[in-house]
Order: sequence, then structure tokens, then C-alpha cells
Amino acid sequence: MRVYNFSAGPSMLPLEVLQQAQADFVDYQGCGMSVTEMSHRSKQYDAIHQECLALLRELMNVPDNYKILLVQGGASQQFDAIPLNLLSGSGVADYVVTGNFAKKAYKAAKPYGDIRLAASSEDKTYTYIPKELTLSDNADYLYITQNNTIFGTRYTSLPTLKSGVLVADVSSNILSEVMDVSKYGVMYAGAQKNVAPAGVTIVIVREDLIGKEQAICPTMLKWSTQADADSLYNTPPCFSIYMAMLNLRHLKKLGGVAAIQRVNEYKAGLLYDFIDNSDFYHNYVNKEDRSLMNVPFVTGDKDLDAKFVSEAGKNGLLSIKGHKLVGGMRASIYNAMPVEGVKALIEFMKKFELENK
Ligand SMILES: *Cc1c(COP(=O)(O)O)cnc(C)c1O
Repeated sequence: MRVYNFSAGPSMLPLEVLQQAQADFVDYQGCGMSVTEMSHRSKQYDAIHQECLALLRELMNVPDNYKILLVQGGASQQFDAIPLNLLSGSGVADYVVTGNFAKKAYKAAKPYGDIRLAASSEDKTYTYIPKELTLSDNADYLYITQNNTIFGTRYTSLPTLKSGVLVADVSSNILSEVMDVSKYGVMYAGAQKNVAPAGVTIVIVREDLIGKEQAICPTMLKWSTQADADSLYNTPPCFSIYMAMLNLRHLKKLGGVAAIQRVNEYKAGLLYDFIDNSDFYHNYVNKEDRSLMNVPFVTGDKDLDAKFVSEAGKNGLLSIKGHKLVGGMRASIYNAMPVEGVKALIEFMKKFELENK
């Protein structure tokens, strides 16, 4: 039996994608072996790799002067790769700290240059996106986390730059809403929230920003290493890329990013409306900054929250416990969460409220 899995990541994948992978698993399209056993230099794998890159470019409308890189190390590895690749001008970068991952990125960058805090929302436990930024005149880049997975906030419009380029961690909202790639210098995402099983990390970078890395930048962290080799410098995470390719095909069939964005807005709207009309459940995020992907909520009573998580689990609504930094509950409703899953959650929330009020 399949459950509704509200995990923040790794998270749900569409059933159709899993079934396709299952059908292909032992003998990939008659070649007598699995994708997991295949040389990354084989023509079968190359077709998967190229289709994944082409679908990303098509679905995200990536301009020709941007490279799409498929790398390893997770989003976290880019916390170091970004300053190492980009701090080649003034050596100054501005960071907006809107949550745990943003703070990790900010701290990771510190050894590589003059890393400045443009704003932080830590004063209100990251429940909003700061609008007033202290920006440097000569920054190489401004860094943001566009969707904050743990705290449930997102940027609904991008900050205005004073200098340099915009760098965004889009790990938990990539492919969930239309993004104008030309507004970014770099955007990147680990796969395991909205694209594929953990393994591949997608880095989309403007071409002129490649090849200017600091002298100390390790070979495997240089974007130029994979850019020059079509992301086949070394063995890529082949199976994760294959799953990404299947999921991208699936998204294209659904009508692409604009179409799934409408579904995501509808799903999130159902849940936020229900919470807002309840005096039993609360979401403390500034309304205009609410995430479409991660919806934290609480009852205000720790024991009741724990009971909610436990009983939800018994009712097929899994992994809904909030992050330890926030507590309570968090429903992650990525692209693969069907509308029925959100409706089932709301029905359960009603029932739980009646029984526990
Ligand atoms: C999950 C997540 C990360 C960390 O990703 P890893 O692939 O585990 O390194 C970073 N940033 C955001 C916004 C995330 O949601």
C-alpha cells in the first residue's frame, strides 16, 4: 500500500515514475542490464544523460548562455563551491540568512572571502523573508535561499541587486514554480526534494561566471571541471540522473512547470485556508512569505502535536513531524504530492481537532 508521504526530503516521487523505473530496472530497454550496472560511457547511458539535460533546459526555459551541470555532493557541497567559484573579483559577498541552510551556507563561505550579512530573519525564528537588505557596492554576488524548507518561507519576488549576481539555493522549490533563469547568476538544487532520489545536484550557471575560481578551489568543486566535460568528467550519479529524466518526462506530460505551479498553488491554498480558518492549528509564517512546498503548523501544545504525528502515521499520512528546530508538524507538499493527499490531510486534521479540542 502506498501512503501519503509528507517528508521534507528525500520525498515522494510520482507513482508512474517509480513504476517505469521498476519496469526498466533489471533489463533497461532490452540491453540486458540495469541502468545501475551500465557504463557511464555507454550510448544507452549517454542518451539518458543528454535527455535529462535537454528536459531541464526546456522545462526551466534555461537560456543558451547558461550551463546546466549535474554534480555530486548535495546542495551542501555548493555552500563551499559557490564562494570558491565566484569570489574572484572583490572577494566580497552578501548573504541573506533566512534559515538553517542559509546560515550553513553563510558560515561555509566565511574562510574564502569578505562574507557579509545582508539581512537575517533569525530575530523572529525565520518566520519571514527580510525585505530591507544591507548591500555592498562591490559584491561578487548576493546569496539567498529561495525556499526555506524547514521554516516554510519563500521569496515571492527576487531582491534587487546593487552589484554582482544573484545566487539562489532552490533545492526545495526547483520545478515547482516558474523561474526566470536570466535573473540569476547561479541557481542550484539537490535532487531529493522535487526531482529524483538523492545523488545528483543540479547547478545552473551563467557561462561567463565559469572558469574564474579561486586558485585553492579543488578540481571537483570547480564548475569548469564539469562544464568542460558535459558533466561526465567522472562517474556521475547515473541512477539518480535516470530517475530525474523520468520525472522530467512526467512533468512535461503534465504540462510543464507553469501547469504544476497552478496545482501547487491550489494545494497550498487548501491547506493554508484550512489552517487560517481554524483556531486549533496555527502557521506562524508571515502570510506573504509562505512557502508553496513546506507548510509548518502547530496546535500550540507539544503533547498534542506528538499525538497528531503518531495518529496521522496510523492513518497513512507519514513523515509529518516538524523539523527539530521548529517542532510541531510540517507538511511537505512537493510536485509529487497529489491534491488527494492534501485533502486527506485536511480531513484528518478536522477529525483530530474534533476529538482533541
Ligand atoms: C535539503 C536542503 C539542503 C541540503 O541538501 P543536501 O543535498 O542534503 O546537501 C540545502 N538547502 C535547502 C534549501 C534544502 O532544502
